[in-house]
Amino acid sequence: MEKKIALLLTGGTLLMKAAEDGILEPAAYTHNLLQELPVLRRIAQVEMSVVCNLDSADMQPTDWLRIGRAIHQALSSPGIDGVVVVHGTDTMAYTSSAVSLLLGPVPRPVVFTGAQRPIGEPRTDARANLIDAFSVATLPVPEVGVVFASRFFRGTRVTKRDAHAMDAFDSPDFPPLVELGLTEHIARERLLPGGPLASFDDRLDPRVLVVRVFPGLQPSWLLQTLDQGVRGLVLEAYGTGNLPALGPSMLDVIAEASRRGIPCLIVTQCLKGSVALERYKGAVAATRAGAISGGDMTVEAAVAKMMIALGRFPHSDARRRYLEDDIIGERSPLAHG
Ligand code: ASP
Repeated sequence: MEKKIALLLTGGTLLMKAAEDGILEPAAYTHNLLQELPVLRRIAQVEMSVVCNLDSADMQPTDWLRIGRAIHQALSSPGIDGVVVVHGTDTMAYTSSAVSLLLGPVPRPVVFTGAQRPIGEPRTDARANLIDAFSVATLPVPEVGVVFASRFFRGTRVTKRDAHAMDAFDSPDFPPLVELGLTEHIARERLLPGGPLASFDDRLDPRVLVVRVFPGLQPSWLLQTLDQGVRGLVLEAYGTGNLPALGPSMLDVIAEASRRGIPCLIVTQCLKGSVALERYKGAVAATRAGAISGGDMTVEAAVAKMMIALGRFPHSDARRRYLEDDIIGERSPLAHG
């Protein structure tokens, strides 16, 4: 029987058309993807809708909720075998992380995709990415993920690693779920089991600050920032989660955050690898001051998870457990620091 796919448009370069001055912006966009790429109809029947039309740099957590609700509605509609979401590449990994965590287990594939060059340009990656996204959306892969340059990555593990190459995304700590080569190779052993959709829980608190630790960072700036209404901190620490421990240090910030009930999640600023907070003195002291290990989570997943943790769990113990647990494949269970 012919498959049916819900195609949701949210914006991004794939849909943009350059204005006369060459600037890409969403104002003029390709409304009818099916006219542009009729071959999509040979893969599945398509139900298309426009959720929004934004350069993804303008996306906010409220847009994650809008997109999450639209996906939830599509997956709840009878006869839909999969969902494809066209999205800008700049913040795609944030949205795919947030949507994965917001939805929880999904019964069928939810496939984000986009392009480095607009679909109307001769040398575009949009056609291949869309065709691959449609193909994955028809497979037995109950995951939220991103298709780019012939690979399907888990949505909570992916990151934009290249501003220039067509092969813009990677998933450094978790191999792809599907490789679209001569055949479609599904890594079945890595797939989440999937499951029926829960009702959509939109509780989320966006008052999260991400700080990359660097030599010269003044802890006093952060202490002042804690007065500005920050509710959750994500620290991008060095290597395995190490932090400066001499003199006035980040430890004061973590201790003060803990005193105020502000959770502080530590991830690594390295592209690959996991936090192991027991390894160095600075990280051990950070744990004693109340820091929580983010394991091998990407920054994108850590930000989304922190916002959802703050929205869903008013009590610090439950919030901590949610942050430390592997909820939907976003962190390796063995990588706890
Ligand atoms: N600025 C664009 C966006 O994220 C980039 C892209 O789609 O490649 O919407």
